[in-house]
Amino acid sequence: MMNVVALTDKETLEFQERIFPTIDDNEILIKVHATGVCGSDLRIYQNGDNRVDYPRVIGHEIAGEIVESGKNITRFQIGDRVTLGAHIPCGECLFCQKNQGHHCIQEKSVGYHIDGGFSEYVVLPKTFVEHGSIQKIADTTSFELASLSEPFSCVLSGLYEANVTPGDTVVVYGAGAIGCMYIAAAKKMGAASVIAVQRSAPRRKKASEFGADIVIDPSTTTVDEKVKTATEGYGADVVIVTAPSPAVQREALEVVKKTGSVLYFAGIKHVKDMEVNTNHIIYKQLNVVGTHGAPRTLHLEAVKWIDQGLIDFPSLITHTFPLKETEKAFQTAINKEGLKCVVTP
Ligand SMILES: [Zn+2]
Ligand SMILES: [Zn+2]
Repeated sequence: MMNVVALTDKETLEFQERIFPTIDDNEILIKVHATGVCGSDLRIYQNGDNRVDYPRVIGHEIAGEIVESGKNITRFQIGDRVTLGAHIPCGECLFCQKNQGHHCIQEKSVGYHIDGGFSEYVVLPKTFVEHGSIQKIADTTSFELASLSEPFSCVLSGLYEANVTPGDTVVVYGAGAIGCMYIAAAKKMGAASVIAVQRSAPRRKKASEFGADIVIDPSTTTVDEKVKTATEGYGADVVIVTAPSPAVQREALEVVKKTGSVLYFAGIKHVKDMEVNTNHIIYKQLNVVGTHGAPRTLHLEAVKWIDQGLIDFPSLITHTFPLKETEKAFQTAINKEGLKCVVTP
């Protein structure tokens, strides 16, 4: 038998005992050691998702150990310590052919279409073994840190699409786990100055700790003015929006300099409220990009960043919980206490 925490309805997580899984010749069985709670897990938990049927074990930020490997699999061995990407690319569609499995037309993901990481064990099906991202981690990397590889791969994807270059001034809206990853990684990639915008005081403190040069409380300071002052009136080279707010998405187009980049990372719940002044995009000749997920190549790169400790990954994990307390992990994340909550089955 094994223990799982299954989502059985909206806002209902149940600790369950299930039959121990068996695998076929093309599958892999992972003993899960760490699974991060992602913003998208919270969304599924609170609102449901049309890709998720109940009961479903959610969770896609997974690190663990291979305990069984189908006999057709040669790339991995029992005992390998690995971390996983989230997507289950079909391997056949146009996007999969172009190393864009995160845009696969099947749109299948771990923790959505198959049971995910809030569980003692996860079975990786053949398509995932063949086309998904399974990366070995260094002996010196803990499973908890390795579970950051999936969200960090998405951050790397954003940084590359927004074209962050040495010397840039980068504005980051939101200093949660993702925002702090952006702050630290942008600095590491050579940004001369990172300006963080964050309402909550504890998170403003985190923004500074992760290397933000200027930290703004938007409830007391006009962001546009402050950014212009810091950039001799030009505006920021790159603006990254990790806060799901229409007002912030609009403001990003104002604080960015002409020819700069705006990266939208967080989706908006009520898109009807979304109004964009496209004249900013046209007359300032902006590069406006969105990113979602990450290709396998960047997941591999994320693992290298973690193995080498290129940013302060340990400080991103502020809470860990045993499997039994998964619901508490979700509540902690919903209350925005700390940064990343990780469940360690
Ligand atoms: Zn995630
Ligand atoms: Zn595909």
